[in-house]
Amino acid sequence: MSEPFRKKKQYGQNFLTNAAIPARIVRESGIDSSCGILEIGPGLGALTTQLAPVAAKVVAVEIDSEVIPPLLERLKPFSNVTVIEQDILQTDLHALLEEHFPGMEVCVCANLPYYITTPILMKLLEGKYGFRSITVMVQKEVAERLCAKSGSDGYGAITASVSYYASVRRLFSVPAGCFSPKPKVDSAVIRLDLYQQPPVHVESEELLFEVIKAAFLQRRKTLCNALTAYFPFLTKEACARILQDCGLRADIRGEMLSLEQFASLTNSLQKEKER
Ligand code: SAM
Repeated sequence: MSEPFRKKKQYGQNFLTNAAIPARIVRESGIDSSCGILEIGPGLGALTTQLAPVAAKVVAVEIDSEVIPPLLERLKPFSNVTVIEQDILQTDLHALLEEHFPGMEVCVCANLPYYITTPILMKLLEGKYGFRSITVMVQKEVAERLCAKSGSDGYGAITASVSYYASVRRLFSVPAGCFSPKPKVDSAVIRLDLYQQPPVHVESEELLFEVIKAAFLQRRKTLCNALTAYFPFLTKEACARILQDCGLRADIRGEMLSLEQFASLTNSLQKEKER
């Protein structure tokens, strides 16, 4: 296909050239004809053209005005696709969903622009939009991080935070050679199935995310040192008592804690804060 514009590095434009990859993304995303799809960054439509025949409706948000004319040309055979020229991070998703998908179950599917992977994922999760699933291509290292088990090298604040909202599965790897231009990194497709109810109960979600953040800020500190450095209300004595009450060793590091343990720690810290 002739490409009438220069691909823009600043927008993370690495387009899929191997048609088998978007077809496999759609197949393994669990999308069916009842689903509305929000696609982020359709680019030249490699994924959009595979989503449109399968889903009820596709709304694709693309930041680059120059990519839109060739994209619309390619999407002419599909009457169920709407392209919106916008920055996804600035998009009012509640309004978009209400306008385009009233009463419908919506899945997100995208080959993400890697420079904003984390802000996009956190926006999709924190907004509590009721998405059924989010299937996205990300950098291989991000996929590993999001699927890491507690205590392993890749386990971090984002792993624990995301696990509050969704179960994450790595679907398959995608070598750099499947894109044009070829990126410097390998990729993987992951699927997040969102929980209707969080898997743990916390009195304060805000405090849970603060605790997770504090625990990973200085990975080499013990959890007790990390928490007392972060929360002014917490003394060393109180922290030691709380860890013991939660069944955690005094010298444990934050990276060892599962989401359930972060939740029980959060609820104890909440009580301490209110004392
Ligand atoms: N889906 C296409 C594919 O698989 O070939 C393109 C994927 S490319 C990795 C990422 C796309 O996201 C590009 O089209 C880029 O212009 C778009 N993009 C980058 N930043 C964006 C943003 N903030 N909001 C919406 N789209 C964005």
